[in-house]
Amino acid sequence: MNTSDLAESARKAAERAYAPYSGFRVGSVVVADDGAVYSGSNVENAAFGSAICAEEAAISHAVASGVRRIVAVAVACIDADSVDGAYPCGNCRQLMNEFGVEKVIVTAGAGELREHTLDELLPFGFKLET
Ligand SMILES: [Zn+2]
Repeated sequence: MNTSDLAESARKAAERAYAPYSGFRVGSVVVADDGAVYSGSNVENAAFGSAICAEEAAISHAVASGVRRIVAVAVACIDADSVDGAYPCGNCRQLMNEFGVEKVIVTAGAGELREHTLDELLPFGFKLET
């Protein structure tokens, strides 16, 4: 899948989001090192702290399927006017760091698309030496 295809898949995942409180539907797809693609969407909750980010859902989907290395993540917030409002939160950036993500694609409602390395979004990300 190329960058545009991944962004489109993330947009489709966003259409399935559960976001009755914020009104910001977010979808994400992650690409495992074997090329398999896993999706997720945000799941909000009346207890806001129990909400799940789309990237978190997609990463969990991949890990529960046996994936241990993710090469790319695409995130789409189809209700954001600007791509500036679609960037992954700090927690999700750290989750991406755990699984070796290299490329992060971000897109929003108007279709603007940006591509970053994870190092750009999370310089000096935490790694536990085991
Ligand atoms: Zn997040």
